[in-house]
Amino acid sequence: MFKAFLIKYGEIAIKGKNRYLFEDALVSQIRHALKETEGSFCVTKEQGRIYVEALSDYDYEEAVDALKRVFGIVGICPVVILEDEGFERLAEEAVKYLKTRYGDCSKTFKVHARRAKKTYPLQSMEVNAQLGGRILDSFPGMRVDVHNPEIMLHVEIRERIYLYSDVIPGPGGMPVGTNGKSMLLLSGGIDSPVAGYMVAKRGVKIDAVYFHAPPYTSERAKQKVVDLAAKVALYAGPIYLYVVNFTDIQLYIYEKCPHEELTIIMRRYMMRIAEEIARKTGSLGLITGESIGQVASQTVQSLAATNEVCTMPVFRPLIAFDKEDIVTLSKKIDTFETSIQPFEDCCTIFVAKHPVTKPNIKVIRHSETKLAEKIDAMVKEAVETAELIVVG
Ligand code: ATP
Ligand code: MG
Repeated sequence: MFKAFLIKYGEIAIKGKNRYLFEDALVSQIRHALKETEGSFCVTKEQGRIYVEALSDYDYEEAVDALKRVFGIVGICPVVILEDEGFERLAEEAVKYLKTRYGDCSKTFKVHARRAKKTYPLQSMEVNAQLGGRILDSFPGMRVDVHNPEIMLHVEIRERIYLYSDVIPGPGGMPVGTNGKSMLLLSGGIDSPVAGYMVAKRGVKIDAVYFHAPPYTSERAKQKVVDLAAKVALYAGPIYLYVVNFTDIQLYIYEKCPHEELTIIMRRYMMRIAEEIARKTGSLGLITGESIGQVASQTVQSLAATNEVCTMPVFRPLIAFDKEDIVTLSKKIDTFETSIQPFEDCCTIFVAKHPVTKPNIKVIRHSETKLAEKIDAMVKEAVETAELIVVG
């Protein structure tokens, strides 16, 4: 029954001149999300409102699901749009709307009219009263409840008239593209896709980097990361995924440094390389799925040692989350099933039996001096030969 949606978005974040940025980014994200669906749609911005109108047949559930993934949307209201052909016609359509939507029900209701078009002959209060009367006449079982109605019938009078009573919750957050860009270190695990989702929800555009160690890690492991990026891209928009060949660097560290420090040193090189690519491609921060205490390389001491090599801010949205809560989120955004596919991970292949859990930064720096001969050239080559895959 619906050919259009009215999109509600948060008002707090969009004071002043941010409003245009916010709305334009939201319109463009909505267009992108709907492109994946079957129908064709027109998305317009009009006096502090965004409307989505179907120009063709479309799948209602699919369109609503796509809109539910657009950050910045607070509510999705399926609307009936009428031409302004006088109050009589409005009353008929409103009754028809309620019949189709709710049947001959006995619910409580309230009419909430808003007259944006000041030349309309009735004031909002008059529309409320007169339309309320018509509804009572047409539905013997319905009653008015102005405080806590079961049905709130919104009537927005603009150039055209918009009727709606449902508000489907959107994801909230801010439209991607309103807060710069950051580089997500995306592994095949559970945590990093969730971290990317969370930062994208704050309006940050996401690029990603994956450290691949062939032949120790397989093409299937890489494909899993591409699949995860595609899942995150359903929310975050297209993701530029850089696949870095990390094998030689890992082997070199393995050869030159104490094995119990391997993970930390490897993590430090991942951060350095990610930052280098980030800088070249316009990202302003790094994002990881780290969480305090989850594994040996995520004690506070280890995080400090990893962090030391970065000059960009590192966003760790999961830092204080329990694993259980991360899993719940990963199920919600549908990355969990992909994340738990059993493919090898480059961090686990070279892992020592007893990795240091409280690395001393001075000791780590000293170990890294043993890499001096070749490491700069290797890092340079890793950055330069990174494979770019555009996902989503
Ligand atoms: P995840 O579930 O995200 O893999 P994890 O709990 O396995 O995290 P680690 O393996 O210590 O933790 O990795 C910590 C973070 O480092 C990851 O969340 C991710 O951001 C980054 N990371 C680890 N391995 C890789 C990789 N191969 N490529 C890109 N980033 C990685
Ligand atoms: Mg991992």
